[in-house]
Amino acid sequence: MTYVIGKECIDALDRSCIDVCPVDCIYEGARKSYINPVECIDCGACELACPEVAIFPARKARTDEQRKFLADNASFFSLPLPGKTEPLGSPGGGERISPVGTDTPFIGGWPKR
Ligand code: SF4
Ligand code: SF4
Repeated sequence: MTYVIGKECIDALDRSCIDVCPVDCIYEGARKSYINPVECIDCGACELACPEVAIFPARKARTDEQRKFLADNASFFSLPLPGKTEPLGSPGGGERISPVGTDTPFIGGWPKR
């Protein structure tokens, strides 16, 4: 299981979650952060730290929108991002490669806040 970052993070990006994640599995895109579902250890620290209340456990993704964000968080790592030829996969730590500098097409097309 993993945690998911929802729409409230878009254009907020204050990095509080990144600072508390014990395994550095939160990656910063251009407008939003994404949790790597393979690297997340399901501790819940990020959910408590987010001032935007953007983070929720995947098991609580009940609405269509929440399920879209669950799938989109995973696709940030499993599909090539715009301008890239290979997927990110599991780099083993966000601090080394963040900000990645781009978002999934789903987030890139989201209206500005
Ligand atoms: S649940 Fe824990 S391990 Fe997973 S992203 Fe949040 S802080 Fe990191
Ligand atoms: S703490 Fe919340 S708003 Fe800030 S980067 Fe993390 S998910 Fe986004």
